[in-house]
Amino acid sequence: MSTPFLLRGGRAIDPASGRDETADVLIADGLVVAISTKRGELTPPAGARVIECEGRLVVPGLIDPHVHLREPGADDKETIASGAAAAVAGGFTSVCCMPNTTPAIDLPSTVEFVQMRAQASQRARVFVAGAATVGRAGEQLAPMGAMAQVGAVAFTDDGDCVASAGMMGKVLAVCASLDKVFMQHCQDPTLTAGGVMNAGVVSARLGLGGWPAVAEEVIIERDVRLNRIHQARYHVQHLSSAGSVEIVREARAQKQPITAEASPHHLLLTEEMCGGYNTQAKVNPPLRSDRDIHAIIEGIVDGTITILATDHAPHTSAEKARDFSTAPFGMIGMECSLALYIKALVESGAISWARLIALLTIEPARLLGIDARGHGRLEPGLSGDVTVIDPTVEWTIDADEFKSKSRNCPFNGWKVKGRASNVFVAGRCLLIGDGVASAARVPSQSVRLDAL
Ligand SMILES: [Zn+2]
Repeated sequence: MSTPFLLRGGRAIDPASGRDETADVLIADGLVVAISTKRGELTPPAGARVIECEGRLVVPGLIDPHVHLREPGADDKETIASGAAAAVAGGFTSVCCMPNTTPAIDLPSTVEFVQMRAQASQRARVFVAGAATVGRAGEQLAPMGAMAQVGAVAFTDDGDCVASAGMMGKVLAVCASLDKVFMQHCQDPTLTAGGVMNAGVVSARLGLGGWPAVAEEVIIERDVRLNRIHQARYHVQHLSSAGSVEIVREARAQKQPITAEASPHHLLLTEEMCGGYNTQAKVNPPLRSDRDIHAIIEGIVDGTITILATDHAPHTSAEKARDFSTAPFGMIGMECSLALYIKALVESGAISWARLIALLTIEPARLLGIDARGHGRLEPGLSGDVTVIDPTVEWTIDADEFKSKSRNCPFNGWKVKGRASNVFVAGRCLLIGDGVASAARVPSQSVRLDAL
């Protein structure tokens, strides 16, 4: 049995129920067992540890629905265990990993392999997105029903688009019948051939192949059209352009079952960062313009975009040391994304804390269909997945301190504000910062102890 914890006097936010008030939260036996707004009403059970949470946010465990954990096949970049540890360090209690591994996650046995590895790591929960087509090759349907049966929560060929309209129609039909979300990596490959960064004046100046926004937009338009027939839950991954926001906005206005996610780098970085052939800025889809950033934030403000996702994509330093054209696409983000979301969305005044927490909890839980299992909520009787956030702590992002095995973070060295101070998964405290009273006192600020 794990140690009970009393989180005392924090600002408890549960967007699903509308709760936003000062409260004490008691975690025991793997669950949130009680929440009380009357100070002192909850007496800590024998052996409980008390964490003073005044000035902090106590929220449902954060969920990142789009990460790459690289196992099987590339455990020099990341493993399921290192990725699940990185998730906890960033405040996430659950992640959903993508199937573009080697081999691809396109069989029930591979789904089970990932689940087994995740369980053994005893860190964040890892939910699995299965491939929609065999080998993610876009030619033959993968056994999605069988993968769903062993626990795959979503389907995607992420890393690649399901480019053929014929195949896309079949995939949507299967996803609709299974009531699983299809998550599209929106990229018409015929429009991005040779592209390595956003198409525009910067790519022209650098002499690098351009990757136009329309390559993303035509796929979303086509899929919205196709999905009018199937009515599957359809999700746009890492949305990067103003035009895409427009298409999703219109489809949602027409009550189409479409959602979209935004990633930290598409909220804060532009194509200018590729200057000097900086491979840390090379990502798929590419960094675009200020205009696109504003449109994406506007989309978050008006409810067009309802989910935040890091697209955590680890690569080795050797790979990123190649020239810009041949270095791999992708950047890591789980361990700094919370502060970056705060910077882009809350500090800027775009949205409230409660809305930010919704975008990181109940919204991705609904996307993955895990809300019914109690994820994404902070309520007595539901899972003891809880994140405590210190919104005032100022810190410098240092990739060398990351639990991730990779270091390809374009935000390295940024001064940011706000960080998870405590993370509970199924009631177990996996991350503990300062402010811990009594028996759990730690010697200095921001000390991280594993598996108390
Ligand atoms: Zn992708």
